[in-house]
Amino acid sequence: MPHPVSRAVLSEHGREFGPYRYVYAVVSRRSQGLSIGINLNPDKSCSFNCVYCQVERKNTAKKKPVRFPVLMKELHSILDQYLNGCLHSHERFSSVTDNNWLSLKDIAISGDGEATLSPFFNQAVELVLDQTERLKKEHAINVKPVLITNGSNLGKRNIRSACERLVLGGGEIWVKLDSGNADDFREINQGSVPFQRFLKNLFDFGKTCPLILQTLVFSFPDGRLSLNLNDYVLLLQKGIRAGFKPRSIQLYTLARKTRLRDLRALSVAGLQAMAEEIREKTTCCVEVFP
Ligand code: SF4
Repeated sequence: MPHPVSRAVLSEHGREFGPYRYVYAVVSRRSQGLSIGINLNPDKSCSFNCVYCQVERKNTAKKKPVRFPVLMKELHSILDQYLNGCLHSHERFSSVTDNNWLSLKDIAISGDGEATLSPFFNQAVELVLDQTERLKKEHAINVKPVLITNGSNLGKRNIRSACERLVLGGGEIWVKLDSGNADDFREINQGSVPFQRFLKNLFDFGKTCPLILQTLVFSFPDGRLSLNLNDYVLLLQKGIRAGFKPRSIQLYTLARKTRLRDLRALSVAGLQAMAEEIREKTTCCVEVFP
């Protein structure tokens, strides 16, 4: 059965949205509906340099600090647009006929870099919690607060506290884990954090805070698969034995133009076969987003 929303709409995650500088709306495959994003990194700063990064970095953005009062106003404004029905008439959504896909599912702290690097990260968490609470109380709409992070800052106490607050407020933390060993981590994510430290922080935090892992799989131009499935499974098994409890794993592949050219997306069947093996060997809940 064809997907009710076209691939073009699901792949359109551009941050340019009307007059807004810091907020945008997309139809999200992983949220199964509308997601409002908050971009805390219009300067595109990130602690990783993933080969598959889809953020356009050719035109280096000016390092202007985020104006948080403007961001707050923008979030109020885009939510008002959603509530009064105007948001649906944006050209980005013109081909979407299934209204379920235009219902607001989450407000995500995400954007063009690593949100936890922003000096406004904690304020953004409070803002999202306030607004999701308001939507619930005043409009009886359940909208999930979400943080999408590369996990490089999970060793910091203040970042962990903000993440815990988000989860206590009904939110979800989506954290990147694209590899099962240090060599692949270096090659794929090219982060400033050593793999063992990254992993320790992830697993330690994930013992008490239920994290959703995001694993992106693709093929390199020479045909090599990005994920060594055996190492990945062993890593998860080790973490789980030590008390790590991932809420679920989102397995997905490329949908847009990437920083390193000629990377290839994985087939749906390929993703599903991987998901099956991960489920079997780790008992984790694995969702596939082709
Ligand atoms: S963590 Fe995200 S924004 Fe940063 S380089 Fe990787 S894909 Fe790009």
